[in-house]
Parts: sequence; structure tokens; C-alpha cells
Amino acid sequence: MMKRILYILFFLFAACSVPKHSKESNRVTQISTFDALLQGVFDGTVPLSAFQQKGNFGIGTFDALDGEMILKDGIMYQVKADGKIYHPDISIKTPFATVCYFHPEKDWRLNKTSFVQLRAMIDSVVPSPNFFYAIRIKGSFKTIHTRSVPLQKKPYPALVEVTKNQPEFKAENKTGQLIGFYCPEFVKGINVPGYHLHFLADDETFGGHLLGFELENGVLEIDQINQFEMLLPDNSGFKKSEYKTDRSDETKKVEGSEKI
Ligand SMILES: [Zn+2]
Repeated sequence: MMKRILYILFFLFAACSVPKHSKESNRVTQISTFDALLQGVFDGTVPLSAFQQKGNFGIGTFDALDGEMILKDGIMYQVKADGKIYHPDISIKTPFATVCYFHPEKDWRLNKTSFVQLRAMIDSVVPSPNFFYAIRIKGSFKTIHTRSVPLQKKPYPALVEVTKNQPEFKAENKTGQLIGFYCPEFVKGINVPGYHLHFLADDETFGGHLLGFELENGVLEIDQINQFEMLLPDNSGFKKSEYKTDRSDETKKVEGSEKI
């Protein structure tokens, strides 16, 4: 009897002593490369059902560039070019996306903050620009400016051609969440160096790729991530994609944040 109680106590202790960051949870996983997306490699490669095995927090796009992805608390949202929010079927594939399990280590209260101020603030509080950071800001937004991208047909154009005519959306007085990542400078060509955030309103009527905002008040949470995993698409578009060209200018054009 005593031995049995000891066993139970041991298992209880073992369960409690599992660190918050298991090896799996402190990892960001990425589908394809950003330079492939810039070159029009829009064919989906990983079904959402498999993608969501890699985390509960992420951003990206969908097969044939059909809108902006937001994975919030394990629930998948699709902001299409009509500005409406959908729940895509888990059989739909993604051509480019980034995902992790979100375990924020710290949080900060924010008042009256712009995108420029937010970036400067995060830069000043993180231990180094050379790690990945998953970032979430929950709050009340005085203004919010987003965009989406329309479904494309083959032959796919370059992403910079698509975003020249991107639908943009503006709203005032929305509560919601910014979700996304800071990636270090050395991911150039692979992901977007710096900040890449998407927005979803709490009432699920507004969202998209973030271009700018004025935050009234909110909470910033940051999760430092030191592991990086890439899943490369085994399709003809990716096989033909080319990496000798420096696409930094194209990356800045398609990301297109407001200069405020
Ligand atoms: Zn985006």
C-alpha cells in the first residue's frame, strides 16, 4: 500500500515538474520560404489539419493566395479579399505560413501606441535581435488598418504584382488581437526580417495583414523562440524558385506598413 502511494506521489511530482517550455513548444515552424511566395509559388502544400499539429498560434496565407491567415488559440480564421472572416476547411492547404505554441514569458501594459512606437518598444525590451519572438497584443484600437490578398489563378503572378491592387480595410474603435512574429535579420529570403503581424477583431468582423494602428490601451505579450523548423514544398513551383536575387525591396513593398 505504501509503495503504491509513493508511486502515485512520484507521478504527481513528475507531472508538475515538466518545464513550461518542452522542446516541442519552444519552436517556430514555417512552411516554404518567403522568397518562393514573392515569386508566385502559391500552390498549397501542407493541409491545415497537419499545420495545426505544429502549434496554436500563427499567420500565413492559403492555397492560391486566398486571403490572410490568423491562427488564434488553435482556431483558424481566413480574411478573404472581400474583407469578411471565414473558418476554412482543414483540408485546405497553405503555401506559406508560420506557427508555434504560444507561451508568453512576459507582458507589458501599453497606452496610446503606434506601430512605429510598438516596434521600438519591443526592440528595447527583448534580450537580442537574433532570436525569434512570437508577439500578441490584446487591446482597444482607436484605428486599425489592414489588407488582404485576392485568390489568384495560374499562371501565378509575382506577389508584388498582386499587392499593387490589394484591398485595404480601415476601422475605428475595435477591440481585438494582433498576432504575429518578429524574425531576425538572418532569415532574409526565408521569412520576413522584423515584424509581421495580423489582426483579428474580437467580434470577428474585421481583420487582415496589419498595415498600421493607433492603440488606445492593451497588453503586449512576448514569447522568445530559439528553435526553427522549415517544411519545404515538394512541388514544381518551389523546385523552380530562385534564391540568387536579393528581394529585400520586394519584401518591403509587399509587407507595406504605414510610416506613422
Ligand atoms: Zn501578412
